Amino acid sequence: MFSVREDEKTAIKEWEVRHNVEVTTVSEDLSLANVDLVEGFDGLSIQQVTELPEEAIYKKLAAFGIKQISLRTAGYDIINAEMAKKYKLTITNVPAYSPRSVAELVLTQTMRLIRHFPTLEAHMAHGDFRWRGLVAREIHTLTIGIIGAGKIGSTAARLFHALGAEVIAYDPVRREELEDILTYKDSQREVLEAADVISLHVPLDPSTLQIIDAEALSQMKPEAYIINAARGPVVDTQALIKALDSGKIAGAALDTLTNEQGIFNQDVRNQDLPEDFKLLMEMDNVLITPHIGFYTTEAVRNMVDIGLDNTVAILLNGTSKNEVLL
Ligand code: NAD
Repeated sequence: MFSVREDEKTAIKEWEVRHNVEVTTVSEDLSLANVDLVEGFDGLSIQQVTELPEEAIYKKLAAFGIKQISLRTAGYDIINAEMAKKYKLTITNVPAYSPRSVAELVLTQTMRLIRHFPTLEAHMAHGDFRWRGLVAREIHTLTIGIIGAGKIGSTAARLFHALGAEVIAYDPVRREELEDILTYKDSQREVLEAADVISLHVPLDPSTLQIIDAEALSQMKPEAYIINAARGPVVDTQALIKALDSGKIAGAALDTLTNEQGIFNQDVRNQDLPEDFKLLMEMDNVLITPHIGFYTTEAVRNMVDIGLDNTVAILLNGTSKNEVLL
């Protein structure tokens, strides 16, 4: 089991006992440099953003008798699909580890934004404790716009609905079971124009790249907030900075940013941050979190349990419900 963090170890130990299977862990990502560590083991589980392009990795795994690679993440784009097929390695993922984890971060950040906490904290840091201009709206008076009402988007919708907010959504796929908690709109534009808080929950693919650009931002109300806990590139960061700077929108909470790799979940105190990071961090109507939405005890446990269950399912039965089509 590669890329194992300290916070995963309790769940791993408990899984080992329940299944009577021995798990050996290393903290590094799998790579060509350390793939030989896999020799002698039956199964393999990884979680990393570092890509695995080299044929030699897959060739070696096959030579060691490895039949599968279990990713403890939802995304599997780090895998070289052609090589996985060539060397008959079955790839599995963890499609949903805890939609609540990200949905609860979105709720938290919405509350912080509507209470003007970023502005308030910036003022207080300079000794200004005045309320002036910081009157808040209550959540049940707001319209929440969900773009992409899949696993996470629909979970966020349920939380906001439970608090009395009106929830509207745009998703090309309509789910009947959500129609008691949200109202579908026919276009993204209709959601952008009507909502007080926009929350993005689309997958990142060529069709969703920068769906929030200057034009989309201009369709939002000036008192509206935008939250991105999906993937950085669904938002045009430069256009967002301009919209925030010029007061076209009221504020933003960002758990993902386009060039976050190498910064989020890293100690970069001695490094110069990219210009867009610096600008956003300096804005007192912006909240940035380092891609921490998923990071809850429940999600970590599910990633471990489902990742190891998938490994054993492939080894014992040759198949798993979480096999991905490459
Ligand atoms: P999902 O596949 O369950 O849902 C995505 C939904 O978006 C689907 O219903 C799909 O029909 C819809 N969609 C696709 N294109 C659209 C478009 N152009 N406009 C509107 N809707 C569109 O995915 P999910 O598991 O809910 O994940 C949502 C996002 O959250 C992904 O980008 C994922 O990478 C991200 N994510 C972030 C974190 C975090 O820690 N911040 C953790 C897990 C997942």
